[in-house]
Amino acid sequence: MREIRDDFPADLAGCVVVPTMGALHHGHTVLIRRAVAVAKARGTGAVVTIFVNPTQFNDPKDLDVYPRTFEADARMCREFGVAAVYAPTVGAVYPPGVEVPVGPIPAIASEPGLEDWFRPGHLEGVAQVVRRLFVMTSPSAAVFGEKDWQQYRLVADMSANEGLGIEILGEPTAREPDGLASSSRNVHLKGEAREQSVAISRGLRAAGVERTADGAEGTLREVLREAGIEYEYATVRDSRTLLPPTAGTTACRALVAAPVGGTRLIDNAPWPWDGE
Ligand code: AMP
Repeated sequence: MREIRDDFPADLAGCVVVPTMGALHHGHTVLIRRAVAVAKARGTGAVVTIFVNPTQFNDPKDLDVYPRTFEADARMCREFGVAAVYAPTVGAVYPPGVEVPVGPIPAIASEPGLEDWFRPGHLEGVAQVVRRLFVMTSPSAAVFGEKDWQQYRLVADMSANEGLGIEILGEPTAREPDGLASSSRNVHLKGEAREQSVAISRGLRAAGVERTADGAEGTLREVLREAGIEYEYATVRDSRTLLPPTAGTTACRALVAAPVGGTRLIDNAPWPWDGE
């Protein structure tokens, strides 16, 4: 497995890329496995990018404490059969004096009032770095986690709208045995907060069996409130647009963002959902 810091080698063009910020955990491994399998079928390699992107952190403190575990990450990638880990420097991604384009930004990054509202600038930062990483790595496909549903749909819309010719593949959320969505931020959940955090997936599961979207939203909010969680949003939306469902909606998603013990968690699930 190659470890690449600066210039991305031309022979890896057409690869299947998994953009990450490192601190790889169980959730990332499902994406990596998929990328390796898709790459193999296409006769190319899987590339994991590791880059803690400063432009998507709306809270500088969050950027400072973001876990960095490069050696363990590289080991994991090697075990999974990844062709290369690409960990560019900030200077390689954002060369001084060069204006790296942010847009055009699809409507899903500003209309729903979800991550766009609670983390101003975050999705624009994501669009900017993904666009830049796509240019740097020239992939044929990219794998994203459904855990960050708005981000996944944003990148899918961006690629489709602009005809980037990059297939955007979504992978279902990997969870801890008790249901908590795996996340690099979970290391900050201690004691009571860790116990409380389980209410998020419990709420999504309870909402999943409700018959109406309104009922699902009500149940979700009730479970969260009972657990003492003050959510930022807990809602059921059209899974494509992330706007409130309309008569034309064919699939919905229940989505939550909530600070638990000082750590901001997000999760979502299809609605209806059988909990698996
Ligand atoms: P991050 O390193 O947090 O930026 O995440 C990199 C990629 O891994 C993104 O596409 C995330 O959606 C995805 N990811 C993170 N956690 C999970 C999870 N629990 N299940 C599936 N994908 C995940």
